[in-house]
Amino acid sequence: MSTSVDDCLFCKIVAGDVPAEIVHSTEHTVAFRDINAQAPLHVLVVPKDHYANAAALAAGDPATSAELVTTAAAVATAEGYDDYRLLFNTGEGAGQVVFHVHLHVLAGRSFGWPPG
Ligand code: AMP
Ligand code: ZN
Repeated sequence: MSTSVDDCLFCKIVAGDVPAEIVHSTEHTVAFRDINAQAPLHVLVVPKDHYANAAALAAGDPATSAELVTTAAAVATAEGYDDYRLLFNTGEGAGQVVFHVHLHVLAGRSFGWPPG
């Protein structure tokens, strides 16, 4: 059984109702290229079920929360990157605009610290 929200963009991508360049999928996750890439590699890894943010996913389905990270690592490795940045935005004030949790996987350029 999967959980989806009718007006959620990433639920629609998971369902195949909105096109995306899917690079990897697992039992509980889908990884696709960000439409507005901020680095040579910029992929979003999402759970197939709808959770609003990383904390909600970790509380509700900790195994899939871990699967996001292992999927992200698999994507980076498959694309030839040993070094990468993983990022969850949580809440509008932190830049979250899609309220279906997604792990940003960024690689292929240098990243500042602290992040801007
Ligand atoms: P966030 O700001 O953390 O909520 O990230 C949302 C991300 O989704 C942004 O980096 C957008 O570029 C990306 N995005 C929005 N619409 C799409 C889409 N249709 N396909 C792929 N990525 C998208
Ligand atoms: Zn959703």
